[in-house]
Amino acid sequence: MNTGTRHLTIIGAGLAGALLGILLRRRGWDVDLYEKRGDPRVRGYEGGRSINLALAERGRHALRAADADDAVMHHAIMMRGRMVHVGDTEPVLQRYGRDDDEVIWSVHRGDLNIVLLDLAEAAGARLHFDQGLSAVNFDSRRAMFVDPRDGGEREVRFEALVGADGAGSALRSAMHRVRDLGERSDFLDHGYKELEIPPAADGGFRIEPNALHIWPRGHYMCIALPNDERTFTVTLFLPHHAQTDGGPAFDQIPDASRARRFFEREFPSALALVPRFDADWDANPVGQLGTLYLERWHLDGRAVLLGDAAHAMVPFHGQGMNCAFEDCVALARQLDAHDDLAAAFAAFEAERKPDAAAIQRMALDNYLEMRDRVDDADYLLQRALELALQDRHPGRFVPHYAMVTFMRIPYSLAMTRTDIQRGILERATAGHATLDTLDWSAIDAEVLDLLTPLEDVPA
Ligand code: FAD
Repeated sequence: MNTGTRHLTIIGAGLAGALLGILLRRRGWDVDLYEKRGDPRVRGYEGGRSINLALAERGRHALRAADADDAVMHHAIMMRGRMVHVGDTEPVLQRYGRDDDEVIWSVHRGDLNIVLLDLAEAAGARLHFDQGLSAVNFDSRRAMFVDPRDGGEREVRFEALVGADGAGSALRSAMHRVRDLGERSDFLDHGYKELEIPPAADGGFRIEPNALHIWPRGHYMCIALPNDERTFTVTLFLPHHAQTDGGPAFDQIPDASRARRFFEREFPSALALVPRFDADWDANPVGQLGTLYLERWHLDGRAVLLGDAAHAMVPFHGQGMNCAFEDCVALARQLDAHDDLAAAFAAFEAERKPDAAAIQRMALDNYLEMRDRVDDADYLLQRALELALQDRHPGRFVPHYAMVTFMRIPYSLAMTRTDIQRGILERATAGHATLDTLDWSAIDAEVLDLLTPLEDVPA
């Protein structure tokens, strides 16, 4: 058990860095947070990507551990399920869970970051903005920071560094120079672009606010998440490059007028909601998406990585931040449990690496489901059976989405059970068009044979 006051230097005061700062200060650690960008509370949020995020139980649990949940939930909008827009028919809500206890929440990235920074500062963390990590001497334990406004340099001594500096982590690059971290990145052939649905003339939401809207179109899709100022952020996910099947791609849409024609054809109901379409299209860049695989996350007791810096993932399960928040709780717990930093960092890595790998894979799987399957008859039948089996075998057959989103069981366990359950669903529904013709006694026997009762991690 660690008792004396120790010091940690956190690189990146984004979502994970700020939350970790609060958790560590509450445990008596001395904390400095260095952030490349300016203070968003003074200069406005300069996030530059994904304006709003889906917050789920794992993330909320971590926020509760930092006494930050109430302040964050003040800005959150409930999303009960997916509102699926296909053709000219009225959109249909596919609930995520059984009732309003099983929902996710849309939160503005900037609001969330600001709430966490305020709480970190109030807890006694020292915040240093406009300080981008540029180099590290791990032998002398000195880190160099550059002020992006004037190029001014600053040298800082450290006991240990925590890299919460995101997918392009500068700390990861510095660590890699002294220890091969076994890094590999797989970029998706799809990118994303954001557009905005403003409030209606009467100041309200233009479409159903308590849902995540999806316009699935096979190899591409749009989604829209609500913001508490009554706007929605629309994200178009589309291949970067022309496909062999002749499908659309960003490189075939050179300007806003071509983009408008593409939306008129493919997403007319979404286009009608985006009055500043041309300006948004021109202003917002196409973002890259990828998965970062890392064999090693720490350098003895001198540095450790977490969040996107250790395991960036594609956003299709809405779990990157939730996973990063779980990392923060796990690291704080391991630091409590070990006097030696190297032992704490090693234990943290051993605990979290299998779970990060599992949610990375499930996030990739979910992309196919969202863009291609949510309006497909086989998928809808399997989803109906999943819900029926949840009722027939409560606590034993728990739908995939519920295990990942409403529970806190390890992601790796959720993935193993998902694979088993998917097999049961596929075998049971093969050749059937409705639940009425299924062989229920055989399905029940298979569930009892292959799945043990499942309990959530205690609060
Ligand atoms: P970041 O949020 O990237 O924060 C890193 C911080 O480090 C930033 O403030 C940055 O300025 C700073 N920094 C960078 N370099 C340096 C440096 N050299 N020195 C000092 N500071 C530095 N996750 C969800 O859970 N739900 C969602 O719905 C969701 N949707 C997403 C949609 C999209 C399109 C994308 C791209 C991601 C989405 N994610 C979602 C994932 C989520 O955004 C990330 O997992 C999360 O932001 C990771 O937090 P982080 O603190 O590790 O990194």
